Amino acid sequence: MTRKVFVKDVPIGGGSPIAIQSMTITVPSDVKGTIDQIERLKAAGCHIVRIAVPDLEEAKFVGEIIRRTDMPIVADIHFDYRIAIECIKSGIHKIRFNPGNIGSRKNVEYLVKCAKEHGVPIRVGVNSGSIEKEFADRPFTAAQKLCESALKHVRLLEEFSFYDTVISVKSSSVITTIEAYEYISKLADYPLHVGVTEAGPYEFAIVKSAIGIGALLAKGIGDTIRVSITGDPVREVKAAQNILKALGKMPHPEIVSCPSCGRCNYDLEGFVGKVQKILEGVDKDIKVAIMGCVVNGPGEAKDADIGIAGGSGRAAIFKKGRVVKSVSQKQALDEFIKELKSLL
Ligand code: SF4
Repeated sequence: MTRKVFVKDVPIGGGSPIAIQSMTITVPSDVKGTIDQIERLKAAGCHIVRIAVPDLEEAKFVGEIIRRTDMPIVADIHFDYRIAIECIKSGIHKIRFNPGNIGSRKNVEYLVKCAKEHGVPIRVGVNSGSIEKEFADRPFTAAQKLCESALKHVRLLEEFSFYDTVISVKSSSVITTIEAYEYISKLADYPLHVGVTEAGPYEFAIVKSAIGIGALLAKGIGDTIRVSITGDPVREVKAAQNILKALGKMPHPEIVSCPSCGRCNYDLEGFVGKVQKILEGVDKDIKVAIMGCVVNGPGEAKDADIGIAGGSGRAAIFKKGRVVKSVSQKQALDEFIKELKSLL
């Protein structure tokens, strides 16, 4: 079991539900644009949002962003520890930085002290582009180089008695990502932020993330996830949810519908689409069957919590395989939705 850290009120690790993260593609000085994107991510089901804070000038807008949303916000910082200090003083809930590019040991010490005083956790995020020079030339695998770099930084934080750490060791290679997280999960008990970095354009990014993140979560490795997709970040949240649902780590309604055949005499596909809309945003495990005919429908879908099977002129609504109502095909949709809603 990993340790638990809190990003505002969202726990990461220690057996907590897997938190979904995403990142805005705005700059903090575009406060309105950033808030709009944060709220869209929240509405889509995101739990924690990261914003890039490129310089001290941009850091000045972080406080206003935090005041205007109730979402936990993480600042992504590189190169200048003063940006992190400014963000912490502005009320940021977590910072992500790589001690390797933040300057001297003294700077790191000062930053860690400030984070500790404000109860702000730190993610040590190493990826293929930020491997420490001293490991780059060693006869290590790519995964080991990532992990040894991350562990060096984590140990540095420990030297300053800082333990509110989250680790990530992402690669754009799915295999390296899986190997790296497997490796580091054996050597550290800090919560792990899992993702495949720079996964690329939409369709391939989803496949890479589903394989990489999915393989790790299936083995019990990973406490918070970020799907990385080029473009609108809301799609990252939806993809992350689908990964969690596919692994049974997030409750969700499941629609089972038959492929339809010559026995079906109503618009099955249209019916499924309408029910799908009703179930959007529902976070409950419920199995809903929509079958083409009464001949095979109720029997084939007898494990469904609720189902409907069309007929010639009439449709049968059933629960756990037992027909509970017979309605005219005309009223089938309305009646079915009424019954369905009573279970949600
Ligand atoms: S449930 Fe009925 S309509 Fe659907 S595939 Fe089976 S036999 Fe055909």
